[in-house]
Amino acid sequence: MQSVTILGATGSIGRSARDVLLANRGMFKVVAVVGGHDAAALSEMAKALGASFAALADGTQFAELREHLQGSGIDCGAGETAVAEAVQRDSDIVVAGISGVAGLTPTVASLKRGRRIALANKETLVCAGAFFMAEAKRLDATIMPLDSEHNANAQAHAGRCLNDVSKITLTASGGPFHTWSAEQIRDARREQALKHPNYTMGAKITIDSASMMNKGLELIEAHHIFGIEPSRLDSVIHPEQIVHGMVSFSDGCMIAGLANPDMRVPIADCLSAGRRLKSGVSPVDLARVGRLTFEAPDFARFPCLGLAISALEEGGAATAVLNAADEVAVAAFLSGAIRFGDIADLVARTCDAMGKHGLSAPSSVEEALHIDHISKSLARELAKRCYGAFA
Ligand code: MG
Repeated sequence: MQSVTILGATGSIGRSARDVLLANRGMFKVVAVVGGHDAAALSEMAKALGASFAALADGTQFAELREHLQGSGIDCGAGETAVAEAVQRDSDIVVAGISGVAGLTPTVASLKRGRRIALANKETLVCAGAFFMAEAKRLDATIMPLDSEHNANAQAHAGRCLNDVSKITLTASGGPFHTWSAEQIRDARREQALKHPNYTMGAKITIDSASMMNKGLELIEAHHIFGIEPSRLDSVIHPEQIVHGMVSFSDGCMIAGLANPDMRVPIADCLSAGRRLKSGVSPVDLARVGRLTFEAPDFARFPCLGLAISALEEGGAATAVLNAADEVAVAAFLSGAIRFGDIADLVARTCDAMGKHGLSAPSSVEEALHIDHISKSLARELAKRCYGAFA
């Protein structure tokens, strides 16, 4: 039996992980679940999974969490120390599903000798990828990519020699604006941008999918996960979202990972490590799907993708700056302060201004958080100056 800790238990990754764990009862023991601020949802999750410990990041909700868990025999805590305790408790696998920079500290802290990390938190790799992967190697921890594209590519790659890989390709749905004109995209409304064709996810990643920044961030992640240079990474639009990733080899062979678009598939792979678990997802019926279509991304209509690739090529702190600027820009868009088209513009301005400092890649969580902090301050300042946002 394997023991599991879930960070971000009440989010979409946490809920999918719960479903896979419940479909494979008796194979896993849940040590701890960690949530953000929803005491009711976290206690329900802890009970459903029979967790030993539940921790809420929001310290003000402790009384509520304790009340919900009264008589359940489940230990609980709230605030930073409780989250740290959950991470420290012994478990074989940690599902790192906290979204945003908030996930950086607990995800890095979850690296332990011999542990397996099912990594969904993008910021760990985008903001501190070189440091995180080096730490994982030093501790002999295994990083399993949980994101559907990286997971498909990891399965297709299957540990073959990296020298034989000519290209790793991530697919993208194209998002809700796939067929829209540049002008329409520029003025897209909040509710239009929040309509992802295939997945129900948090607001930030849904907006990032609409702008294609998400694919850019995923290319940065792929660089660190596979240890491959940007020139051998690629993305392709695939609206059906059946193929999630494909690895091209030097002999002309391509191996692709196919599945119905459902996060339970990559989660089952991360939890099983080489074996096959029940995920509750039906196999792909290709005759029913009928057609699988692919097209090159349009960098003119989706400038965020190009900005992310430029940051990846630039290296140093550039991807951390890009990520911070994007978080500010998406928040500004969601609050109605800037237009959808201003997201890329604000990110570009912030990257340009910060690029002059020539910051090197962070070599600790503290450094990554510092870069994040100063980049966000600058992005907010620029948003105010350029679009009158946050006035
Ligand atoms: Mg993805």
